[in-house]
Amino acid sequence: MNLDLDIVPLADWLPQFQKPLLIAGPCSAENEFQMLSTAGQIARFYPNAIFRAGIWKPRTRPNTFEGIGDVGLEWMRAVREKTGLLTATEVANAEHVEKCLKAGIDILWIGARTTVNPFSVQEIADSLKGVDIPVFVKNPINPDSQLWAGALERVNNAGIKKLAAIHRGFHSFDNGPFRNSPKWELAIELKTACPQLPVICDPSHISGNPDLIPYIAQKAMDLDMDGLMIETHIDPSVALSDAKQQVKPIQLKEILDDLNIRSSTIDNIEFKNKLEELRCIIQKLDNDLLELLSKRMTISSQIGEYKRDNNVTILQVAHWKKLFEESLNTGNVLGLPEDFIKGLYQLIHDESIRRQTEVMNFKKK
Ligand code: PEP
Ligand code: MN
Repeated sequence: MNLDLDIVPLADWLPQFQKPLLIAGPCSAENEFQMLSTAGQIARFYPNAIFRAGIWKPRTRPNTFEGIGDVGLEWMRAVREKTGLLTATEVANAEHVEKCLKAGIDILWIGARTTVNPFSVQEIADSLKGVDIPVFVKNPINPDSQLWAGALERVNNAGIKKLAAIHRGFHSFDNGPFRNSPKWELAIELKTACPQLPVICDPSHISGNPDLIPYIAQKAMDLDMDGLMIETHIDPSVALSDAKQQVKPIQLKEILDDLNIRSSTIDNIEFKNKLEELRCIIQKLDNDLLELLSKRMTISSQIGEYKRDNNVTILQVAHWKKLFEESLNTGNVLGLPEDFIKGLYQLIHDESIRRQTEVMNFKKK
């Protein structure tokens, strides 16, 4: 993927920036007490946090709580005045943008259900022309990194340089224990294509419940992400949206206290040399692996020729099963997890069959 964005670094427009940037607050603004009490507790522990709350909520079904609407913007202003926290909310169209700008919201974000739609993103981008406000772009619901990149480009093309991406997980048919499958590789792809783009992880929407938040938050930190967005509510049990995944401010503190924040590099020559030495070993081993795989595939092709000459089918299920089980056992002895061996063998077997099919269908002259 190529992604060339013109970005102002976080630290330049957010002087108090310290990794991880924390965005905390309820899924939705519900009432003034909920907003001020939640924000008050967050500010006590994290005066540099950004306070989030949804004013207009994109809900899957109608007749559920679709957000408190304009009055919530007044509560946001009260939060800012009483706690000093910066405020952030989701915008899904030009009217939302206009109202937020009027109300003095500090940061806007585009939600996952909006990022999927280039018309909506373009409408928001057009409404931001000539405005200097930070915009964060959540990944689209479906695992499509191009759509995510495209939304960031549209906003950037409109002149917004205070930009960040929010990784909130993707809808997939196999979400595992998560509400939204993290598919870390897509966030890594974005970060690799545009290293200057800050990426913030939203463990709440990935996890769908508080139990998994620490694991996701730690993993995000280990992948060198820049911040965390964690839904925090003074009393999650009565929340009008996403009640199951929100945490109390005290839980937020526990989660953050337990995080191990490692730096992406250190200025120590001994450390750098040792790391370089280990990386060289890995590189050599990777080359050896590729050479071995190439040799293995050459033998696969030879087997294909042999089967073709003797009119035998490519796939012999019993033999494949035996080979696979033996490899699982060997992997087990060598300390390699079963899932890893399964994935690896699937790839090797697919390529082996592809080669044999090629050989089989190549007529001997
Ligand atoms: C939210 O942040 O409450 C929200 C609606 O998130 P998403 O767009 O990630 O679903
Ligand atoms: Mn939510």
